[in-house]
Amino acid sequence: MIRNPTPGSIALYTALVVALLVGGLTAFIQASWMEALALFTITAVFSFIFFYYALEIFIYRKIKLIYKNIHRLKTTRYKSSVFKKANMTSDPISEVNQEVILWAKDQNAEIEELKKLENFRKEFLGNVSHELKTPIFNIQGYIHTLIDGAIDDPEVNVHFLKKAAKSVDRLCDLVEDLINISQLETGQLKMEMERFDIHAQVRDIFESLEMKAQERGITFNFKEGCDQPFFVYADKYRIRQVLVNLLVNSIKYGNDDGHTFCAFYDMDENILVEISDNGEGIEENHLARLFERFYRVDKSRSREAGGNGLGLAIVKHIIEAHGQTINVRSKTGAGTTFGFTLKKGAGE
Ligand code: ADP
Repeated sequence: MIRNPTPGSIALYTALVVALLVGGLTAFIQASWMEALALFTITAVFSFIFFYYALEIFIYRKIKLIYKNIHRLKTTRYKSSVFKKANMTSDPISEVNQEVILWAKDQNAEIEELKKLENFRKEFLGNVSHELKTPIFNIQGYIHTLIDGAIDDPEVNVHFLKKAAKSVDRLCDLVEDLINISQLETGQLKMEMERFDIHAQVRDIFESLEMKAQERGITFNFKEGCDQPFFVYADKYRIRQVLVNLLVNSIKYGNDDGHTFCAFYDMDENILVEISDNGEGIEENHLARLFERFYRVDKSRSREAGGNGLGLAIVKHIIEAHGQTINVRSKTGAGTTFGFTLKKGAGE
């Protein structure tokens, strides 16, 4: 009947119905058309005024209040200009309905997001406790064994102390990585940008990791055409952290007597840096989650190699803090390539 009722239209239709009834009744009883018409007009006018104000005061204003409250809640929460001003159109009921539907949708999405975060938090806490537990229990075991008498046994005392020291180092690395992650995630770490030669930096890291690589017979090399300066504009210290992480991983997960290559590609505004190895590779189904905190393909191999599953998460955070991207390609049995971009250093 009335598709989008307003207080005015509802009052008008109701007044007309009442007036028709009164007028019709008068015409029927008095048989006077003039009187019936007069009564119809007076009833119509007065009932319209009465119904209009009753609706306006008792219903419309209250709806308007609900509308304004919802609107205020939304705008204060999102501080966004996408929500239009709290002026109602001539169709307040469907407008309120629309607002309530949208509001409920927002609330649902927010609840889902909070649930996800809560799960994430629980999972993170579980992972951290688990990672802390192993070195702490090891240290506890060695110290108690030493106190219980092993300290006087020259055959084992130094060995146990060295083992305890190794676990302490592992604990320190874990705490250091956790601090790093939390600072990167909360945006506390400001990148100290400068122009530098990333080729010289990689050569430097090759040298510092040489001993570690030699233990497994792995060689480091630049790809053809890449053994020359490439200037980038980035945080030198943080990029060193990224490169060390990727190169150490290429040793940890590479094959004995394998090869690790570093390549640079000029991409107009950026330089693409690639670190590739011919190691064990990673199965396709793991690739999407590889940069998640604590995600490890082969947990025992990672632990054996002293990993805690935070390295690639830190790497990704650092590259993203530069406004750049990192990706991984891998083939099981053939090897893995990590590639990330950095802004080209101007003034070469
Ligand atoms: P971790 O401390 O375990 O090395 P990372 O975050 O550095 O943690 O790496 C996450 C996982 O990704 C590793 O546990 C390993 O399974 C896999 N991975 C990383 N780099 C390589 C690589 N070059 N080759 C094969 N697997 C790799």
